Amino acid sequence: MKKQYDVLIIGSGIAGMTAAIYLKRFNMEVAVLEKEYPGGQLAKISKIENYPGFLEISGFDLADNIYKQMKQLEIPILFEKVISIKDLGSKKVIETSNEIYESKYVVIASGRKPKKLGLEKEDTLLGKGISYCATCDGPLYKEKDVIVVGGGNSALQEALYLSTICNHVTLIHRRNTFRANELLVSKVVNSTNISIKYNSVINTLYSENGVFSGVKITENDQESSIKAAGLFIYIGMEVEKDIFKELSICQENGYIKANQNGETHIKNVYACGDVIEKNTYQLTAAAGEAATVATSLHLDYINSQE
Ligand code: NAP
Repeated sequence: MKKQYDVLIIGSGIAGMTAAIYLKRFNMEVAVLEKEYPGGQLAKISKIENYPGFLEISGFDLADNIYKQMKQLEIPILFEKVISIKDLGSKKVIETSNEIYESKYVVIASGRKPKKLGLEKEDTLLGKGISYCATCDGPLYKEKDVIVVGGGNSALQEALYLSTICNHVTLIHRRNTFRANELLVSKVVNSTNISIKYNSVINTLYSENGVFSGVKITENDQESSIKAAGLFIYIGMEVEKDIFKELSICQENGYIKANQNGETHIKNVYACGDVIEKNTYQLTAAAGEAATVATSLHLDYINSQE
């Protein structure tokens, strides 16, 4: 017998967990599917200073607070990797690594994953000096020299975090202006142990005995090498679109189009958070979109019962 729910939510980032809390409080049978751990990318953010209600909180703590709210409401979180989603009209069938589930509605809140530089050895050196998560791996580089690559809010936020642990941080950015907000830029520029390499591109990853040891960069057409114990890659995010193949729901760039209620072009399939095409990729926006999705989904459910 396939397990049945009113709503299955894919992803337990801030969007997925918020949608689950709202839907459960609407008294719907809801479960969340998660392939890794609660919080998703949120749990990897070192410091959040723009989430209302918290002067400052770590991503891990915020994710944990929301997870506790879910647990208090007894919302099941199923730690299984979604393999495929089928639209059979009035029901949706979700196959995971260990089960097949059915639900009337699906909410896609699977977020995004970090982009890679695409350089040779990047995969083999992952966990051996290369990381996409300063919060998780930063403490391994206490009092050592590290490199951060990228020029957006994530790169600058995490460079600042690393500067409190490490001896020195070199921030490598491919242009001469940052995409990050002005407050972060001014903190980074004024930091005493962050140096910035503008107009610089990493060409080669060096390793010694299978462990990352530095990079070769081209800076304004000049090549040079930088030695470091760690490289933190923050060059943006992309959507993991393979699981949605059968739904034909992703655009060329991977993102899902949803209307102002979070409805996709497939009846009873909603999407919210960083997986959708939008202008604002912020935690507050993701939480708001999830509340909108839950409210309009519930209204649709009520209307369909009449
Ligand atoms: P992002 O804003 O897309 O920035 C990516 C950065 O990486 C850009 O500076 C980009 O350079 C650079 N880049 C892209 N591809 C590259 C490559 N192949 N090689 C070298 N550099 C490359 O990504 P993000 O920083 O991860 O942020 C994602 C979203 O989350 C954004 O909307 C951001 O505002 C939001 N966010 C907000 C906060 C906050 O509010 N505190 C914190 C973190 C993230 P170019 O600038 O030249 O394109």
